[in-house]
Amino acid sequence: MTPSGQCLTILGATGSIGRNTLAVAEDLGCRIHAITAWRQVDTLAELARRHHPQVAVIADPAGHEDLRQALAGSGIATAAGPQALEEVAAAPAVTTVITAIVGAAGLQATLAAVAAGKRLGIANKEPLVMAGALIRRAAAASGASLLPIDSEHSAIFQCLAGHDPADVERLIITGSGGPLRQRPDLETVSPDEALAHPTWNMGPKITIDSATLMNKALELIEAHWLFDVPAERIEILIHPQSIVHSLVAFRDGSLLAQLGLPDMRTPIQLALTWPRHLPGPVAAPDLARLAQLTFTAPDLDRFPTIDLGRAALRQGGVAPTILNAANELAVADFLAGRIPFTGIFTALEAAVSRAPNICDPDLATIIAADTEVRQRHAVDQGGG
Ligand code: NAD
Ligand code: MG
Repeated sequence: MTPSGQCLTILGATGSIGRNTLAVAEDLGCRIHAITAWRQVDTLAELARRHHPQVAVIADPAGHEDLRQALAGSGIATAAGPQALEEVAAAPAVTTVITAIVGAAGLQATLAAVAAGKRLGIANKEPLVMAGALIRRAAAASGASLLPIDSEHSAIFQCLAGHDPADVERLIITGSGGPLRQRPDLETVSPDEALAHPTWNMGPKITIDSATLMNKALELIEAHWLFDVPAERIEILIHPQSIVHSLVAFRDGSLLAQLGLPDMRTPIQLALTWPRHLPGPVAAPDLARLAQLTFTAPDLDRFPTIDLGRAALRQGGVAPTILNAANELAVADFLAGRIPFTGIFTALEAAVSRAPNICDPDLATIIAADTEVRQRHAVDQGGG
C-alpha cells in the first residue's frame, strides 16, 4: 500500500512519537482519520486544525466540552473516552494505526486495531509487554500486520527480512546506556539529571526508562513477542553513540545491523512505507565524521532492571504486566520527588517477587493484575 493510499489513526498524537508521526505523514501525503490525546485539549485542537483529521478524540471525558468549543466551526468531529479510542482504532476507513500512547493505557486501543486487521506501526511497547501472546494470536486471526517503530525493533525487523528464522542464532538489542551510565552514586540522581538523555529526545517516561535501563527490559520482552525468539537468545549491548540500532546474529557467524542517526522519524516513516525505503527528512550518518562506534556489556549489578525483565518473561503470565505497572508508578513517584532514583529498582524487585503464577492469562486477568498493582500503590500512598 502506498503511503498516500493509507488513512491513519494516530493514538497519542500530542506526544513525542505522535508529533513526529504527524510530520512524517504530512510529508508522505497520508490521510488522517483520527488523532487522540489524553488531556492536552489545546495541543490536540491545534494539531487537528493543522492536519484536518475527520475526528479528534480526548481520552479523558472531562476535556470533551473544551475540545468541542476549540474545534467549533472547523468541520472536525470530536469524541471522548476510552471507548472512542477503540472506535477510531478500528474504524473501517482506517488502514493504519500508529500506537503512540505511553504505557498500559494503550492496551485496549492496540487490541482493537489488531482485531480489526489493521496495519499497525507500534511505538507503544507496553501493551506488547503485557499481552504479547494475545496480540500475536489476534494478529494471526485478523491478518493485522505488526510493524515496529521502536528503533531497535525496526532494525531487527529489517535485518530479519527475507531470512529463514531457523538460521537466526540470536538478536542483539543495543542501548545508549542512558545519561547515568558512568554516574558513580545512583542514590542521589535528580529527575533533571535522569531526564537529560545524551542521544535521544523522547517523552519523560521512556527517558527515565532509558536511565534505569528498564527500557531495555521492556524491549527484550517486546522483541520476544514480535520476533518469536526466546529470552535466552536475546542479548543487550550498550552502544553510547546510538547509531547501530540493533543486530541479528546468524548461525554462520554473520552479524547484520541497521545503522541510522538517532531520529525516530526514520523508523516511523519505514512503518508507513514498508517494504519501500522512500526519501525522507533524515540523512544517513556520516561514518567518517563519527569515527568511533563502541560497544560494551551492560552493568547488570548497577542496573538490575534487565535481569528483572528476563525473570518476568521467564515467569510469564501476568508477571510482565505487574513489572510494567510497578515501573509506571515508580517512574511517576521518582519524577514527583517521592522516591529516590534507586527506589525505582526497589519497587520493581518487590513487584516481581509478588507476581502470582498464572498460566496463559486472558485480557480480563491481565487488566485485573495491572489494576491491582495501581490500587495497592494508591493505598500505600494513603490515597484510598
Ligand atoms: P509522550 O509522553 O511524549 O506522549 C504520550 C502520548 O500518549 C500523548 O499524546 C498523551 O496524550 C497520550 N496519553 C498519555 N496517557 C494517556 C492515557 N491515560 N490515555 C490515553 N492517552 C494517553 O510519549 P512518547 O515518548 O511519545 O512515547 C510513546 C510510546 O512510544 C511509549 O510507549 C514509548 O515507550 C514508545 N517509544 C517512544 C520513543 C520516543 O522516541 N519518544 C521511542 C521508542 C518507543
Ligand atoms: Mg527503543
